[in-house]
Amino acid sequence: MNSPAPVLPPLGSYPARTYRLGIMGGTFDPIHYGHLVTAEQAREALDLDLVLFMPAGVPAFKQDRHVSSGEDRYAMTLLATAANPAFVASRFEIDRAGVTYTVDTLRELRARYPENVELYFITGADAIMDIVSWHNAEQIGDLATLIAATRPGYDIETAKAHITAAGLNIDVHYIEIPALAISSTHLRERIAEGKSIRYLTSESVIGYIRKNSLYLPVEE
Ligand code: ATP
Ligand code: MG
Repeated sequence: MNSPAPVLPPLGSYPARTYRLGIMGGTFDPIHYGHLVTAEQAREALDLDLVLFMPAGVPAFKQDRHVSSGEDRYAMTLLATAANPAFVASRFEIDRAGVTYTVDTLRELRARYPENVELYFITGADAIMDIVSWHNAEQIGDLATLIAATRPGYDIETAKAHITAAGLNIDVHYIEIPALAISSTHLRERIAEGKSIRYLTSESVIGYIRKNSLYLPVEE
């Protein structure tokens, strides 16, 4: 039998050069083309060697909505990223009990990988706005370079202004990506309404959702 995929891919065998590791975090309930395009263009723009897709460990209920299990979200992430050799789905956060904070994940990655591995944390414009309100924003900035991608409905200039106003000493790269007004919320709503989600995420993810009856309205 094959051994299970490592929770973190080993990168230590290239000590002679700088290795750029991207981390794409999210609930991924479900993963969609907005996530994949963002990660791919961040990889290209910053010349990343690898992007880890890390479904977050989240409580079963988040803002009054049911969240799919870590296993389902990880499985969909694995399916969606399978064809890209630079993408790796990671169980790192879902395998820990409870919620994992970004700063803790980055701290642990920093401790596990050698000095020549640089960390890049990829987020959409909405998520970068949240970061300024985290009390440990500076620590995140010390551990990783942030990559903020444009996202329809969220103004990157406002995000920039927030960071400047907060006087945060963090390195943020802003990247413009083609506007994909896709969100997991929109996919879940379409599924619940019996509408098609084709071309919003991969066929493999759509098949998984259907096979496991995810996001269907609960019978009263
Ligand atoms: P939900 O609607 O459930 O909040 P979501 O589509 O926002 O889901 P998340 O898992 O919350 O997806 O997002 C993970 C990361 O991906 C965040 O950094 C978010 O900003 C980014 N992201 C999600 N969708 C897009 C998109 N269409 N364009 C750019 N970035 C995106
Ligand atoms: Mg979101």
